[in-house]
Amino acid sequence: MATHSNGGSYESSVKIPTIKFNKLFINGEFVDSVSGKTFETVDPRTGEVIARIAEGDKEDIDLAVKAARHAFDHGPWPRMSGFARGRIMMKFADLIEQNVEELAALETIDAGKLFGVVKDREIPSAANHLRYYAGAADKIHGEVLKMSRELQGYTLREPIGVVGLITPWNYPTTIFFTKVSPAMAAGCTMIVKPAEQTPLTALFYAHLAKLAGIPDGVLNVVPGYGPTAGAAITSHMDVDKVCFTGSTEVGREIMKASGNSNLKPVTLELGGKSPFLIFDDADVNAAADLALSGALMNKGEICVASSRVYVQEGIYDEFLPKLVEKAKAWVVGDPFDPKVCQGPQVDKTQYDKILSYIEHGKREGATMVTGGKPLSDKGYYIEPTIFTNVTEDMLIGKDEIFGPVICLMKFRTIEEAIQRANNTRYGLAAGIVTKDLNVANTVSRSIRAGTIWINCYSAFDVDCPTGGYKMSGFGREKGLEGLNEYLQTKSVVTPLYNSPWL
Ligand code: NAD
Repeated sequence: MATHSNGGSYESSVKIPTIKFNKLFINGEFVDSVSGKTFETVDPRTGEVIARIAEGDKEDIDLAVKAARHAFDHGPWPRMSGFARGRIMMKFADLIEQNVEELAALETIDAGKLFGVVKDREIPSAANHLRYYAGAADKIHGEVLKMSRELQGYTLREPIGVVGLITPWNYPTTIFFTKVSPAMAAGCTMIVKPAEQTPLTALFYAHLAKLAGIPDGVLNVVPGYGPTAGAAITSHMDVDKVCFTGSTEVGREIMKASGNSNLKPVTLELGGKSPFLIFDDADVNAAADLALSGALMNKGEICVASSRVYVQEGIYDEFLPKLVEKAKAWVVGDPFDPKVCQGPQVDKTQYDKILSYIEHGKREGATMVTGGKPLSDKGYYIEPTIFTNVTEDMLIGKDEIFGPVICLMKFRTIEEAIQRANNTRYGLAAGIVTKDLNVANTVSRSIRAGTIWINCYSAFDVDCPTGGYKMSGFGREKGLEGLNEYLQTKSVVTPLYNSPWL
């Protein structure tokens, strides 16, 4: 039974911050929403309301787009040198690090994420995303073209314009900066709509951006609901591009909204049901650790969760009890407690959804070998749960559960492993554990997914592009490919000698 340390048994020394920023950030100012409406954000450790946040809607998005449009068409940001933009972004990164403790505590009370991981890994990595793209901002250039006639030509790489950035609740800081950093470096101006469940850190980042010297109108942050504020961005005629991270279902709506408005290009980072393949030659103990953390990291609320674990038949009987033993020792509880591996699910909706998938799995005939229960009558804690006897056509074998639930399956041959790994509508990521280079090469080239990890999992780096195959989306974030998403190419052509056109 996993230890549950919530419920007063742990006294955190971390100061719970007061909420300083709860309004919309438009054109460099914190303002109330036009309607005057607000919405609640809730602490998933307790289910209690932490703050009321101004609720953005269509009128507020219109104001934010107007500010971003003006900043793009007339302001200094796209016109200053890339070097100058980069310097301001570096300052922004430094300010984030100076406020890391307060930001991490805000993220923890808003999203239930582990304080230590947010403070030591996610926020420093976000600052480094800014620095990486700050360094690229003055290296954006086109090409000289070798034309076939008496012409000379070159290309310009220009910022795409006003961009709408819509983010989910599972990585509020990380995903904010995977979008904002390249968009800023490119010279774009932007409207960010954070997920309604987790608006707190995005508003704090808006404040820090202003302190760093990001000009008014370049970064606007408008919290609000998806079908209102989010949809107002995706259908807006004056938004030049949308970059979205979230569910496949909403991704589909976003493409429709683009098609029904100004055909703005979209980048979609969507869901997954990622396979993790463990071959007979693996170190069973190490592979079980990887499979467990790959699936349960961030309480399973991670798009690349290794939620389908396939183990080759030669080691399956040894692997299963190891995995169960480790799941039972995985500590669930207060996310401020450094001993804890898993905090509460983000909100009641997500908590209920996960528990209902678990019930469905039992009804479908899968065998639940551990977990399955809520862990407290207060807050949204769920035991790490493992099912065996799962097939890919069961709901728990094909849907993204987005919670601490692992489907464990057995395979015989490499061909079967590849076929079953690909038997999904998603294609976000996959993992392979083997010492055999031939197996690693064959499998990594045969799986249709945007990222393949060999003998590691969830190993992200800002220089490594990520994105989906199939219904996990398209476009890439991170790396220099991520910068391209915010640029467009213009060709400039002129005659080499005495123009025949004049
Ligand atoms: P979601 O799709 O419900 O919401 C994501 C964002 O879209 C939120 O800000 C929401 O308000 C907004 N939204 C909702 N309806 C909208 C609409 N009609 N128009 C415009 N915006 C709208 O997703 P979620 O539940 O917040 O996040 C979980 C999902 O995100 C999972 O499917 C997960 O796999 C995915 N995700 C993907 C990645 C990736 O990199 N591929 C990373 C993290 C999360």
